[in-house]
Amino acid sequence: MRIVLLGAPGSGKGTQAELLEKKFGIPQISTGNILRKNIVDKTPLGLAAKHYLDDGQLVPDKIVIDIIRNRIKVKDCKSGFILDGFPRTLEQGMALEKMIKIDVVIYLDVLEHDIERRIISRRICPNCHKVFSLLNYFETKCDDCGAELIQRDDDKLEVIRNRIDTYNRDTAPLIKYYIKSKKLERIIGSDSAEDVNNCIIESLKRR
Ligand code: AMP
Repeated sequence: MRIVLLGAPGSGKGTQAELLEKKFGIPQISTGNILRKNIVDKTPLGLAAKHYLDDGQLVPDKIVIDIIRNRIKVKDCKSGFILDGFPRTLEQGMALEKMIKIDVVIYLDVLEHDIERRIISRRICPNCHKVFSLLNYFETKCDDCGAELIQRDDDKLEVIRNRIDTYNRDTAPLIKYYIKSKKLERIIGSDSAEDVNNCIIESLKRR
């Protein structure tokens, strides 16, 4: 199954991608994680992308389209994958359509006033990328691999507004695009991760 997760920053795409990865045994492909890893490793891609992430802007389409084109060719994607954070523009959506057929787009719908609180409370494991929320997780270390949790630089208040504006301007038009092609499943994303995940599974069963 080839799944796209669509939604504003902080809507729970990363958390749901991890849960779906475990349930279906298909890989989570997060363009954000790939870019952050390249930034830490100071690769040419990381150096080119860093200032976009720091400012809460989108990395140019060509760069992320190439990342996805190469990543989905890898053997572990043979039975499907979960795209987390791609596509983020109509241009990327159209490029994806030319590359491969997507089965379903799960749109995680979260009220804008919840988003800021969720992002500010988010912590991630720099080692295995697991996502936590200080709203329900009170440890400082990752419960999977034990690494000390960190806050993403772009989860700080100064950058959040830019990311939300970027989402509304560049990414939200994809909702209509996927409604038109009858691929969109809208899921209310404000409940607990487990409840949201159950709704996603139910919607996948109906397809
Ligand atoms: P995320 O981890 O999905 O929140 O992404 C973090 C940042 O990585 C975004 O704010 C963008 O700067 C960049 N990024 C991730 N995915 C994309 C994409 N599909 N297109 C452009 N930029 C992206």
